[in-house]
Amino acid sequence: METLKFLTPELARQIAADYGTPVYVYDEASLKRHAEAALAFPNAFGLTVRFAMKASPNAAILRVFHRLGLHIDASSGFEVRRALHAGIPAEHISLSTQEFPEDFAPLYKHGIRFNACSLAQLERFGQLFPGCRCGLRVNPGLGSGGTGKTNVGGPNSSFGIWHEWLGEAEKIIAKYGLSVIRIHTHIGSGSDPEVWERVALMSLETVKRFPDVVTLNLGGGYKVARMATEKATDLQVIGAPVKAAFEKLAEETGRKLKLEIEPGTFLMANAGALLATVRDVVRTGGPDGMNFLKLDSGMTEILRPSLYAAQHPIVIVPAQERAAGPEQDYLVVGHCCESGDILTTGSDDPEALQPRTLPETLPGDLCVVEGAGAYCAAMTAKNYNSFPEAPEVLVGLKGTVRLIRQRQTLDQIFQNEVDE
Ligand SMILES: *Cc1c(COP(=O)(O)O)cnc(C)c1O
Repeated sequence: METLKFLTPELARQIAADYGTPVYVYDEASLKRHAEAALAFPNAFGLTVRFAMKASPNAAILRVFHRLGLHIDASSGFEVRRALHAGIPAEHISLSTQEFPEDFAPLYKHGIRFNACSLAQLERFGQLFPGCRCGLRVNPGLGSGGTGKTNVGGPNSSFGIWHEWLGEAEKIIAKYGLSVIRIHTHIGSGSDPEVWERVALMSLETVKRFPDVVTLNLGGGYKVARMATEKATDLQVIGAPVKAAFEKLAEETGRKLKLEIEPGTFLMANAGALLATVRDVVRTGGPDGMNFLKLDSGMTEILRPSLYAAQHPIVIVPAQERAAGPEQDYLVVGHCCESGDILTTGSDDPEALQPRTLPETLPGDLCVVEGAGAYCAAMTAKNYNSFPEAPEVLVGLKGTVRLIRQRQTLDQIFQNEVDE
């Protein structure tokens, strides 16, 4: 059975009483520990760690990482604006995006870094900023993700410039007198460490084609163990051969490349939990009968299980201390009128159901969904069934809890509606 990662039953009850449920809880001590581990990534000639802010874009989180010396990877022009609003210096923000922002010019003039992620983006950049410096995001021809939906390399992925079209890129670079100073790859979330390493070494070959490149950005995607049965990627292990390859390139060519990495999941996933309340316990009958726990939360706060069968630890905290009842198998379901709103999906199939063995649970008990720091508050079926967006709180280094996002009100849900 799974256990709480950073909460205690007392703290969970206190936060539920103070802020209501559902509520996202983040732990600053875990953020700090993860940031320090990322900053210790093996490197030969310098390292910049960028937090992939799409994983958890709250300003308070961005500022925690900024204070710890991390820079930012933004996935849209709006994320760039959000990071600037949080007080992140423009020079610390790198943009790698599927959609070239309409307001790109002022952002670039402000000082952000930019990786062109398609030939059309490179052309657009050249038109706007001839003679200027940018990076190239390359699709190296293979990718790897924890699921098909999180694999962003290879022929089935639109992310980055396909490696065989780099000749086209060189023509655009020459046409506008651009200087490519960075090569970027990011091949997926929850990548197989061996594929990641192969891509890292292939990317060094790509660097050889571009004489102005001084930085290689190897993206994120480092696997974490949310469930007790999962195995995390060890950054020291995957980083060591890459460091050696950087050193070899320096010996052969004199080029001492700086390394960038861009973890999102690694920094956030296990530093956050979703705290919900069990509102109802129901049973179906017959030989295939099931026990269900219905939460005051679901895909409105955590979409990952429904979207790609992600497995999150589920820990029940009884409303008050009591002797544990007999264990039972439960399906844990969300509050949306949608049969797919399920937290206990099968591990490979969002359509499949996989009951969890939990202590006997009663209405009013708390349900802690662990591993919910990344791509949960950031990626929801927000306002479906008109449930207001949940608040976020941060447990500080000294254990004090502070609100970092208020619960949305019903008025805020319909404030933009017009009917005149
Ligand atoms: C999403 C993303 C990341 C972070 O991926 P994780 O799996 O959360 O580490 C890094 N770089 C880019 C370009 C991304 O799109």
